Amino acid sequence: MKYTGSCHCEAVKFEFETDEIKEALQCNCSICIRKNAIMSKQSFAPNEFKLLSGKENLKTYHWGDHDVNHHFCNQCGIYPFHDTTYEPGKFRINLGCVKNVDSRNLNIIHFDGKNEL
Ligand SMILES: [Zn+2]
Repeated sequence: MKYTGSCHCEAVKFEFETDEIKEALQCNCSICIRKNAIMSKQSFAPNEFKLLSGKENLKTYHWGDHDVNHHFCNQCGIYPFHDTTYEPGKFRINLGCVKNVDSRNLNIIHFDGKNEL
């Protein structure tokens, strides 16, 4: 299936292809608990993910050991996806930003990032 998504102000728009999304991931590390985001279970390869607009609006936040690029929109502050410094361009997606996905009603898998990262 093809999904489309955006940040809140729609400066940043993207699309990706995957099987129907039924599950999602929530992590309890110090940044995810603050974002309260429901994330895609998998990361999407560059050939599955396309940034349609907003490259110039994306800012990146780093913390800790700097291995995750937390991308956010510089207009609305929403965080649509992140990738990692060891797999750049492989994005895990904030499902709250994705059209036609009811992120709060997916089967949520809890990742204990607080203790495992
Ligand atoms: Zn925005």
